[in-house]
Amino acid sequence: MYGSRHQESSRIQLNVGERITGCFALSAGGCDRILEELASCNYCLHPTYRVITVATAAGLERRAALCVRHFITSARAFPELKKLLSA
Ligand SMILES: [Zn+2]
Repeated sequence: MYGSRHQESSRIQLNVGERITGCFALSAGGCDRILEELASCNYCLHPTYRVITVATAAGLERRAALCVRHFITSARAFPELKKLLSA
């Protein structure tokens, strides 16, 4: 029943007006409280590979933690992610 929707949720979702502003490795630093919150992927329970920062339409910032697999599927959907990674 949910099978056809599965692929849709296997990558980072952006709402209208949102854009990806950054991406960093979890080991790159930051405060412990953030690390704990982002220690595992938002879409499965695997360890986080990259944390994506997203600017919302309201000017706020939210973070999404992605494992290797979900990061790759997200990068495929959002070319700017690939650009940030190689920068
Ligand atoms: Zn994942």
